[in-house]
Amino acid sequence: MNQMIKILVIEDEKNIRNFIASVLTAQKYQVILAVTGREGLSLAASRCPDLILLDLGLPDMDGLSVIDRLREWTSVPIIVISARIQEEDKVQALDQGADDYITKPFGNSELLARIRTALRHSSQMQTDVLLSNRPYHSGGLTIDFEKHLVLRDGAEIHLTQNEFRIVSLLARNCGKVLLYDRLIEHIWGPYSENDNTILRVHMANIRRKIEPNPAEPIYIFTEIGVGYRMAEED
Ligand code: CA
Repeated sequence: MNQMIKILVIEDEKNIRNFIASVLTAQKYQVILAVTGREGLSLAASRCPDLILLDLGLPDMDGLSVIDRLREWTSVPIIVISARIQEEDKVQALDQGADDYITKPFGNSELLARIRTALRHSSQMQTDVLLSNRPYHSGGLTIDFEKHLVLRDGAEIHLTQNEFRIVSLLARNCGKVLLYDRLIEHIWGPYSENDNTILRVHMANIRRKIEPNPAEPIYIFTEIGVGYRMAEED
């Protein structure tokens, strides 16, 4: 079952990185390794891990600022690993959104127990989210978040993965304007080019698929120079 779970390890010390990697691999977790904060942030965005183990003392940036950057866009569980034993570092890491804290040196059973706990909490949260995942309905358009299904007047509309993510985010926030930047960051991660072109191309494709007349949208409206807004539910 662990085969499905991806864990990103951001740790510059080779021995500790190898130790963690071998413990996790033995438990059949998928392991992604990063040596620097930057590498970790970029892998977090591109590989979407289920959990992150983060060393606080990294060569290129402070682990606390890595937490900050991650929390701008993801709620993935973060367990901080650090040699620092000062209470204030723990408090600050937790304050900044880390889920747990483990102090070096630690053994494999402690590490695995912390990981299981963090994953259990996060899957509980996902379940809560799923329970509130009732479909969106507006003027013949239905978006079933759980089944990844979009229907117009009962007929299924095929969207690509990113198109579906854009439509879902808009539908979950229907009636509100979502800024271009927020959409771009949500779909392509925080380090994507801050350029609206790719979003506009996606939106043109989405409209071509879901709008009866893409030139006069009734589901997704453009707020010129600001962002997009999805029609409120019926
Ligand atoms: Ca270190």
